[in-house]
Amino acid sequence: MKTIVPRAITAEEAAVVKQALLRAAQTPVPADTIQFIDSLRVTAECECGCRSVEFECSEGLENRWADGVGYLQTGERVDVLVWERNGHVSSLEIVDHLGAGKLPVSVCSWEEAGKMLSNSSFDPDATRRST
Ligand SMILES: [Zn+2]
Repeated sequence: MKTIVPRAITAEEAAVVKQALLRAAQTPVPADTIQFIDSLRVTAECECGCRSVEFECSEGLENRWADGVGYLQTGERVDVLVWERNGHVSSLEIVDHLGAGKLPVSVCSWEEAGKMLSNSSFDPDATRRST
């Protein structure tokens, strides 16, 4: 991670964090956390080319808050993890297996991803419609 001059979260990043917390949370996420996502500030970006970012947050132990599967516009998959510290979103981790350098357009839980795999035709928008 490379420290940057703090900037506002982009709409694209906020959408990924929100979807991950709403659809793939490991522990309950308070409603005000979701509302606060739009005001998060990015303080570090990954240097490897993936779209992982760290947010302005107090010090402390990080816990995994959400763990899901993201789909790029092209239908390729990335892993999406959201970490928290003291109840605040501390980082967004994109495990970009293909080095696509893109954020997913939709995020779902591993269970949902498994169900979609068993369908013969792949449709990345199916995750959005199923809710
Ligand atoms: Zn990276």
